[in-house]
Amino acid sequence: MAVIKRGTLEAVVLAAKNTFPNEFLALLSSKKGKVIDEFVLLPSTYGRTYSSIRLDLLPYDSKVLGSVHSHPGPRASPSRGDLRAFKMLGEIHLIIAKPFNFGSVRAFDSAGKEVELEVVE
Ligand SMILES: [Zn+2]
Repeated sequence: MAVIKRGTLEAVVLAAKNTFPNEFLALLSSKKGKVIDEFVLLPSTYGRTYSSIRLDLLPYDSKVLGSVHSHPGPRASPSRGDLRAFKMLGEIHLIIAKPFNFGSVRAFDSAGKEVELEVVE
């Protein structure tokens, strides 16, 4: 199961809307254990390829838990490229599809298996 702070998920929703029709890609991180409480949008990744992620741009005080990216269509299912990236980028991976709200977010583990996403205050 993945756990995310409500405010962080709201920011993800906003980022997906603002980036549309492009996809956005960010890394999920945490200052406290396993609860996702921030994400790091990497500026060079608009239009997106995972290969363009620069891990050296990450903040030092945070632990990377995984990734989040948007799909400009209605399907929040990982592509083959997504699955490859999931293996390299941590344990929790969110995909947000249109219409970009809490109901259109799905969470996956690093093997691409869907996991439950819990939103906490
Ligand atoms: Zn994808």
